[in-house]
Order: sequence, then C-alpha cells, then structure tokens
Amino acid sequence: MSALRKGNHTGLPLQKIAKLNHYTSTSREVLMPHLSTDVLIVGAGGAGMYAAIAAARGGAAVLLLDKGQVGRGGATIMAQMTVAVALGEQEPDSVQLHLQDTLNAGRGLCNEELSLLLCADGPARIREMDEWGTRWARENGHIKQEMAPGHSVKRCCYVDFLNTGPAVAATLRRKVGEIAAIRRISNLAVVEILVRDGRAVGALALNQIDGQFISIEAKAVILAAGGLTKLFARNSASANMGGEAYALALWAGAQLVDMEFVQFFPIGHLAPRLVGMDPIMWDPFRYKLGGKLLNGKFEEFIDRYGSTDFGKYNATRDVAAYAILKEVEAGRGTPHGGAYLDFRHIGESQLRAAFGPVIDRLLTNGIDLAKTPVEVGPMAHYHMGGVRVDVNMQTRVAGLYAAGEAVGGANGANRLSGNAITEAFVFGERAGSRAAEQVKKFTDNWHDTLAREAIDGFHKAREADSTDSATPIALQAELQELMWEKAGPFRTGAKLSAALARIGQMQRQLAQLPVGAEKQFNLDLQDWFELRAMLTTAKAIVQSALARNESRGAHQREDFPAPDDSLLKNQVLELQDGALATTWIDPVRLQKNNVHYPEFRS
Ligand SMILES: Cc1cc2nc3c(=O)[nH]c(=O)nc-3n(C[C@H](O)[C@H](O)[C@H](O)COP(=O)(O)OP(=O)(O)OC[C@H]3O[C@@H](n4cnc5c(N)ncnc54)[C@H](O)[C@@H]3O)c2cc1C
Repeated sequence: MSALRKGNHTGLPLQKIAKLNHYTSTSREVLMPHLSTDVLIVGAGGAGMYAAIAAARGGAAVLLLDKGQVGRGGATIMAQMTVAVALGEQEPDSVQLHLQDTLNAGRGLCNEELSLLLCADGPARIREMDEWGTRWARENGHIKQEMAPGHSVKRCCYVDFLNTGPAVAATLRRKVGEIAAIRRISNLAVVEILVRDGRAVGALALNQIDGQFISIEAKAVILAAGGLTKLFARNSASANMGGEAYALALWAGAQLVDMEFVQFFPIGHLAPRLVGMDPIMWDPFRYKLGGKLLNGKFEEFIDRYGSTDFGKYNATRDVAAYAILKEVEAGRGTPHGGAYLDFRHIGESQLRAAFGPVIDRLLTNGIDLAKTPVEVGPMAHYHMGGVRVDVNMQTRVAGLYAAGEAVGGANGANRLSGNAITEAFVFGERAGSRAAEQVKKFTDNWHDTLAREAIDGFHKAREADSTDSATPIALQAELQELMWEKAGPFRTGAKLSAALARIGQMQRQLAQLPVGAEKQFNLDLQDWFELRAMLTTAKAIVQSALARNESRGAHQREDFPAPDDSLLKNQVLELQDGALATTWIDPVRLQKNNVHYPEFRS
C-alpha cells in the first residue's frame, strides 16, 4: 500500500480515502480497498482533467484516475503543435466556417451535432484556459493563429514551438490540484465498468504497483481513456493508448461507431532517433518550407503517383502515404522502411528563420537538417471512431459518459489538424458538467457482489494451468505487427479476414497465458489486462473495416478504391451474446434552419 500512497496525489494514504471491505470470491478471499465518489473519471489527459474541473464546478465529488501519472500519461502532453478554434483573432472566422471545414474533412460521415458542439464551445474553452494561465502565443495583443491544411482561415493557436501539449497539460494539472473536490490517483488501470440494472455504478481497477484490485462505487462514470493507436506497430502514441476506453464501453453495454476510421499520419518520424520531440512535427516544416520526399535511392517519386510536387513537398496526406508505402513495397524504401524528407536545398539561414529554436533541439538529437535528410513514413496517429454518445456525452448505458478521443463521430472519416485537443477540452467539459447535474438525481445503486463477480469472471477467463509459452507482451507485439500489416493504411478484404482470424485465435490463447503470482510490479498481469482490451478493440476495427467496402477518408481499401454513396452511413457496433453485431445508420445531420451559431470575435 505504501507505493500507492506515494502515487495517489491526494496527500492521504489510500486507507484514509477508502473504506476497506472484505469480498469473498469463490476462488479465494480478497481484501479489497473500496473507494466511493459521485463522478469517477477514467483517464486523466486533457478530456479527463477538463471533465474533473467541470464536474467539481457542478458540485460533484470527483475521483480522477489514471493508469499512468495523472496529467502526464496520454496523448495530450505529447501534442506539441496546434489547437484549432474559431477565435477570429488573426483574421475573420466563425463557428459556421470552422464547422464547414470540419464537415468537409469528415467526408459526409460526421455526427454534425457533435461537430457543431466542438466548433461552438471551442472558443470558450481556449479563453478559459487563457484565464487559467495557458500562455497562448500572441502578436500585437491578439492570440496568434496559424493556417493548417484543410482550414480555410488562420485558426490554429499554439503556445510556442513544440510546447502546446505540455503547456495545456500543466495548466489543467495545476487547476485540478487547486480543487479540493477532486481526488487524484495515479497508477490505477480500470479493467471493468460495473453495471447494475442497466446503469453504470462504478468500476474495478487494478493497482499497477501491487497488483491489487480496487472497487470503486460511483453515481456516474466518464470514460476519458484516450485513443487506440498503440494497436499499430507504427504509431505516434504513448504506451497508454491501447484502446481500453472502447473495450470498456463495449463490455459495459455501450455502442461504438465508425471504428474503421484510424488516421494515419503520412510523414511521421522514423529515424534518426528523436528524443523528447513530437514524431509528427514535420507537418509545419512541410507547409512552411516544403522539403523533398526521396526514396531509398534518393530519387523523387511523388510524381509517379499522380501528384505534381513542383520541386517542393506539397502532396496531400493520402497521396504521400500511398506513394511512400508503394516505394517501400517495390524495394525502394529507406533503411527504416520509409522515405527521406530532405531540406538540404533550403539552406540553414532560411531553416533558422522559420524554426529557430527547433533547429537547435534537432541538433541536440544529432539531426542537422542543412546536412542530413530524415527518414519518415506513415504511422497511426488518431482515432476518428469511438464510443457512441449524444450531445451530452452520454452513452446508451445510463450513468456512463465518454469524452475526448474516446468519443466517435465528431470528425467523421477524417480529422482536421488541431481539432483533437479542442475536442478533448469541449467534450471533457460537457461530460463533466452533465454528469454532475445527473448525479444529483441518483440514489446509490451499488452492491458489493458486483466487484466480486467481476473478479470471479477474470479467474474463469484464465485457465488454472497456464500452458502457453507466449507472454502477454509478446502477443501484444504480434498484434501490433498484425494490425499494421493487415489493417494499416491500405487494406484489402483478404488481409482483413486474415487479421480477424488471428485475433480470434489470440483471444482464445489469452486464457492460457502465464502471468505469474508476484504481487509487486507484475508486468505480465498488467499486460494481460491491457491485451484483453486491445484484442476486443482490434476486432472492432478489423470487423468494421472489412464491412466497409469502399475507400473514404482515412479508410482506404485497395480492393474498393472509390467511395460508394450507398455507404454514406455510420457503422454502429455492440456486443450481442459475446459477438460484435453491426448496424448501419444515417449520420446525424443538423436541422439547418434551427441552428443557432454563437457569436464570434473578429
Ligand atoms: C504525438 C501526438 C501529437 C499530437 N498533436 C496534436 C496537435 O498538435 N493538435 C491536436 O489537436 N491534436 C494532436 N494530437 C491528438 C491529441 O493530442 C489527442 O487526441 C488528445 O490529446 C486526446 O486527449 P484525451 O484526454 O482524450 O486522451 P489522452 O490525453 O490520451 O489521455 C487519456 C488518458 O487515459 C489513461 N488511460 C488509458 N487507459 C486507462 C485505463 N484503463 N484506466 C485508467 N486510465 C487509462 C492514459 O494513461 C491517459 O493518461 C496529437 C497526438 C499525438 C499522439
């Protein structure tokens, strides 16, 4: 317990914030700490921390958990670029225009109510963050906003080069720390949402340090556990983005939407090794300065794939990703399986004028852009699909909400750059405030048997004799390769079917994987629970990708290369008798005549 005491951030030993209960499991007697709260938030990135602040502001007692360190564990702190929001500080802009750009990028599949919420509430969130101390870059007294691909005006604000994510995470951590109603606990991974009579009433968590289960009773639960890009061997993600939010939602009875839409960033950094810098940092270099894409033989190749490059690298993301992977397939890749991005023709003074401090940070990584090209290639970066919610972030399970990247629908088939952090703040605030309102109406529906039954379920899911020679982490690595090879940027029915078959085998193998009996820092146990969720989420992606026989946005099928208007629908998944069932629905459209667009400044 002492290790947990160190990591729980409450300043109190866990015993003081928990009442200790005895739960008798059928297989063994378990002494299990028990926590109780109004609103439980699973995941403490941008969405989770914003949700915690909003729920506390609404009068609720909040428990904010993270499997890593609160406020330091996921994508938010890694995002070093920009936040898209219609502030109209740099040039005239409007919520309506931001919405139109978002819907265009979403290729007809956005849930327009969610997209509108993202665009309409974004300005208030960014200004609130400003009041809380985020130092948005300014010019002549105005928040500075930059142009980015897909936006029709300068809309993307930032803190300074490569510091936006760390800065907003620091602001939210500080704010959360000031609010007494928010208790924070690091190193607790939620492994099951507990549901009683169709309502979410808490969760079961695994203490990552001592391997102990902890039961948590709550009147509402918010899933803010981030994205899934760790499922792919090549990704820009943190180690904690294994798609657990989606699996937890499915198991609890919620629905997922459009799981096939994984965004692959075409020029993620592959080599040389880059420490402490964003792997997707090359985009601003691309649109500010150009930069030649060269294959492993140092030949320009984009022109071979139907895009003119005009001596600069300005090909669209899908063409660039396709061209790079096809060159690699043809044996003309770079040593790390990508392409070279070459700035040597630009010259040091111009590079420095555009990116001064970044050039020095690259030099500390041994990268001199004036002398050496870097290796880049497509990598999984963001998930457009996710948990299906209404505009209050409520899933179809009463008391269960979702927020941030875990939510599906706002960005349709493709996301505009900068929309993801806005989404995390806006959806986090909405989920927290709505959950706080709702818990006032609820009476406690907890029962101690719920946690015991969940633990019994895990014991049953694992056979007594672990006969398999593989380990959970080895299977995770295999799954990542499988997803990259068979469900990555370019998919076919044959590759997806093969992936589905292997995922099914792995799910059966799960029961026999050894996890050992150690209590302290049992990584096999942590990896086992993570793998269990990863497999469920991987299956949801692959099954959805197999069913969508068209290419649209981020979902590219080589055997169905064109969009098919009859598939201009969202794909909804749910568990029925343990199997994933699919329904196709029409996208949620705004009733255009009834939409009130909030005022904006210009
Ligand atoms: C390298 C990189 C750069 C990016 N750059 C930009 C950018 O410039 N602009 C932009 O708009 N977007 C960007 N994005 C995307 C954006 O950062 C994310 O979509 C957004 O931050 C997600 O916020 P979130 O709170 O939903 O999730 P996260 O910030 O990922 O937080 C989720 C948290 O949940 C925790 N968690 C996971 N599973 C569990 C569990 N079972 N139990 C408890 N806790 C759990 C994790 O540890 C993590 O702390 C970038 C992403 C990456 C990876």
